[in-house]
Amino acid sequence: MVSVKSHSKHVCVIGGGPSGLVSARELKKEGHSVVVIEQNHDVGGQWLYEPCVESEDALGKEKFLKVHSSIYASLRLTSSREIMGFTDFPFSVKKGRDMRRFPSHRELHLYLKDFCDWFGLREMIRFHTRVEYVGMLNYGVFGEDLKWVVRSVEKNTGKVMEEVFDAVVVATGHYSHPRLPTIKGMDAWKRKQMHSHVYRVPEPFRNEVVVVIGNSLSGQDISMELVDVAKEVHLSAKSLDISNGLSKVVSKTSTLHIHPQIDSLHEDGRVSFVDGSWVTADSIIYCTGYSYSFPFLDTKGIVVVDDDRVGPLFEHTFPPSLAPSLSFVGIPRKIIGFPFFESQARWIAQLLSGKKTLPSWDDMMKSIKDFYHSLDEAGVPKHKTHEIANFEYCDRYGDYCDFPYLEQWRRELVLATLKNAEENLETYRDSWYDEEQLHEALQSPHFSQLSHI
Ligand SMILES: Cc1cc2nc3c(=O)[nH]c(=O)nc-3n(C[C@H](O)[C@H](O)[C@H](O)COP(=O)(O)OP(=O)(O)OC[C@H]3O[C@@H](n4cnc5c(N)ncnc54)[C@H](O)[C@@H]3O)c2cc1C
Repeated sequence: MVSVKSHSKHVCVIGGGPSGLVSARELKKEGHSVVVIEQNHDVGGQWLYEPCVESEDALGKEKFLKVHSSIYASLRLTSSREIMGFTDFPFSVKKGRDMRRFPSHRELHLYLKDFCDWFGLREMIRFHTRVEYVGMLNYGVFGEDLKWVVRSVEKNTGKVMEEVFDAVVVATGHYSHPRLPTIKGMDAWKRKQMHSHVYRVPEPFRNEVVVVIGNSLSGQDISMELVDVAKEVHLSAKSLDISNGLSKVVSKTSTLHIHPQIDSLHEDGRVSFVDGSWVTADSIIYCTGYSYSFPFLDTKGIVVVDDDRVGPLFEHTFPPSLAPSLSFVGIPRKIIGFPFFESQARWIAQLLSGKKTLPSWDDMMKSIKDFYHSLDEAGVPKHKTHEIANFEYCDRYGDYCDFPYLEQWRRELVLATLKNAEENLETYRDSWYDEEQLHEALQSPHFSQLSHI
């Protein structure tokens, strides 16, 4: 798989969130020239909190959204800070900042800004600039390397730029475009309905009867904070087999109720559940997750999003027909995000320089086909194609680019947090039972590598 030739490429990275930043760092390290295009005024992606959401459609149905971040004001990390850092830049505690293990979103934003400054990435980033079109310049032209046209718009001036790149890395995230259920009567329901993408604070729901749909992490968090201001909170879950942690919260809170899925919504404000019960609600908040969306990308149908399966992608990263000049960083879910994005970025950088080569088109397509087949066999629905939940997969992935394996303490800390959250939903961010693994983590080379600064 290793080739000796090495070339520097002109690469466009779309997005200045964690995936885009680490891509820029890896590409730069490998000797490529890099332009990062970021629509916002700062780096951070989801972690650049946006309090003003009035301009956004409440259900986020537009093709190009106005607001990227779906982070709400009170959000604290669901994963502990120790597991989150990139391999060579630990997410360490800093005096005068939020020193908690599960800090607020702002602390992670500051970490990303530090990362950006430490590796001198800012000069590569064009802020306030939105990519509106990415297409192939010379697809299928015999003897020519594929080039990409990127059209972007400077948001303040409206100035349009069109540039040609050797490669494009798409790092635009996938927690912005709402994934909405289809519910009978949804269009006829006249009261307030919104997706958690635009939820920020509980105050607008004071004294209201609120139905929250979806008991994922956001659904639970939002329900628990609404309980303090709303008259009643009705949490509609896919299954009534809820975690012990959530059961404990429900049992001590008289205004939080669990319901099964919704059957229908009615013009008079009634929300009917599939068990025949109903409530009259003032508001509905859809905490139903997010969809992949690349409204700027034109691959002539080579890459498509089908029920949240982005494909065909070899190892969730490369469309075989366009690889390695088109790649995606950050598609997988249920992984330890930052180090995984870093391994993706490293592999892309090495492939573009010619240090590594991909398997043949046939072999990549076969691997994708086999993977889809294994999902079908296991009964995994299409929209969960990119849910990994497997540490070994991350290690195997890293083998493509000689990326270090996940440290044992990272794995153990992840599992300990999941277990703690399952049992102690309200308190897991402030009291824990993984002191031993935590000690091991903090003594490890990962945390001592920058201790001199
Ligand atoms: C409520 C919530 C809680 C979360 N909690 C955790 C957690 O506790 N731990 C964890 O690890 N992860 C968590 N996540 C996941 C989080 O998304 C990832 O941590 C991380 O931000 C993904 O990084 P990314 O760079 O891939 O995408 P993003 O962070 O989404 O960054 C994408 C960037 O691309 C830019 N962009 C998009 N389109 C364009 C365009 N057309 N032109 C130019 N720029 C563009 C955006 O402005 C953004 O800056 C959470 C997400 C949400 C929504």
